[in-house]
Amino acid sequence: MKEFDYIVVGGGSGGIASANRAGMHGAKVLLIEGNKIGGTCVNVGCVPKKVMWQASSMLEMIERDAPSYGVQANIEKFDFKELVARREKYIDFLHGAYYRGLESNNVERIEGYATFKSDHVVSVNSEEYTAPNILIATGGRPSQMTIPGGEFAIDSNGFFELTEQPKEVVVLGAGYIAAELSGVLQGMGTQVHWAFRHGRPLRTFDHMLADNLVEIYRENKMKLYDHHVAKEIKHNTDGTYTVYFENGNTLTGDKILFAGGRVPNTDKLGLENTAVTLNEKGFVIVDKFQNTTSDGIYAVGDVIGKIDLTPVAIAAGRHLSERIFNGKSEEFLDYENVPTVIFTHPTIATIGLSEETAIERYGKDQIKIYHSRFTPMYFALSDYRQKCDMKLICLGEEEKIIGLHAIGVGVDEMLQGFAVAIKMGATKKDFDDTVAIHPTGSEEFVTMR
Ligand code: FAD
Ligand code: NDP
Repeated sequence: MKEFDYIVVGGGSGGIASANRAGMHGAKVLLIEGNKIGGTCVNVGCVPKKVMWQASSMLEMIERDAPSYGVQANIEKFDFKELVARREKYIDFLHGAYYRGLESNNVERIEGYATFKSDHVVSVNSEEYTAPNILIATGGRPSQMTIPGGEFAIDSNGFFELTEQPKEVVVLGAGYIAAELSGVLQGMGTQVHWAFRHGRPLRTFDHMLADNLVEIYRENKMKLYDHHVAKEIKHNTDGTYTVYFENGNTLTGDKILFAGGRVPNTDKLGLENTAVTLNEKGFVIVDKFQNTTSDGIYAVGDVIGKIDLTPVAIAAGRHLSERIFNGKSEEFLDYENVPTVIFTHPTIATIGLSEETAIERYGKDQIKIYHSRFTPMYFALSDYRQKCDMKLICLGEEEKIIGLHAIGVGVDEMLQGFAVAIKMGATKKDFDDTVAIHPTGSEEFVTMR
């Protein structure tokens, strides 16, 4: 049986980062990947999504915004097929970059799906491998619709398989993916019908974000339907699909896109042969050091179901390798105050507690809210007055900033720097003491009254 210092199961964001870092410190590392290198983010997540978002934003800019600056440009052709082909070529280029990175850190690679035979033995393509340290970084996959006809809906993986632009799409779901792909498609000229189960989408975020997003999407001709619970999907004879809702409404499109969360890839891993424990949803249980309940087996990324973001998986994987292979015995990832952007049209940027959670946790009298709503200068010459909303959530007398939320043009690129300040414990006074940059949207954050 071939022996290693470290076996990493899963070549996505977390697995690659951890394997490379361990290799840099001289460990003998094996990375096992059953599908394309790079995992969800590179192949069916962040990367193709951002490419589609850029294309959609470009179309929106040319068609909706450019005329207000005197730029009259006719789009002769938007070639969806070509966009997809170029996107996939770029992804292939990234595959090569990942292979080179792993080689330069002397990480060995095997293509195939791994299963655990016992706590420290995994099997791939009928060969067995052992190591004192094994990382589970197998990520997750889209959850499937369980209603009759649920199999007719495509998920985010199916969206990235499209080579023809759909004319009319019904989007079901209320989180990141539903919000992002609805905006991408509508911006490209597809008629989107976005239906969600409750009063608003993005319910776990500060309400200001969804409130403005719904308003802006409606202004841009998207159709939104709240309190819509799907009960069945039927395939019509003309090739379209109809979603039947519990309230009696129906919506028809040439594609139905379901984005209702993700499930962990733990069901086929053979974990029953180990002492690793899963929670009731199948996610791997870990402590703050990413230790599972089996000595020497660790887990990072989407498979632990904590914060499903690429930089979180990467950071957790790197901290872990620093701890195991570089003697930093107390190294771990702090999961508090993780900034995140939702690539809607316009984008949403958020870190820390929502107004609702802050009040629930600390009481209304401990929380002070600063809010600013304005029309970004980008729309200065336009009849279309899209609004940007920004909010700071401050705690106690010193007004420590425990939440910062924004929706509007360009907020995606504003958040990273503010996140550093918040991570360092910034107060409202620190923001007030910082001179604004004019004319920008971000200056609102340091001038709020
Ligand atoms: P993954 O990247 O999923 O990698 C797991 C890998 O393990 C896969 O390649 C899989 O094939 C492999 N595997 C599974 N089982 C086995 C096995 N038994 N043996 C061998 N290999 C196995 N995050 C952001 O930060 N920003 C974004 O803009 C963003 N956009 C997203 C858009 C979409 C549509 C989706 C779906 C996700 C997006 N995410 C985004 C989330 C991000 O992609 C994930 O959080 C991240 O990829 C998780 O990394 P991971 O290493 O945990 O898992
Ligand atoms: P999310 O967890 O973000 O949202 C899913 C939501 O869909 C649920 O909260 C629920 O909201 C709704 N839902 C669940 N089941 C159903 C159902 N049967 N019918 C209708 N609606 C349903 O999941 P996503 O799939 O959107 O994304 C997965 C994760 O990937 C995200 O949480 C995020 O961490 C990551 N991601 C990150 C991105 C980024 O960084 N920009 C982009 C895309 C994904 P409700 O209860 O209100 O109905």
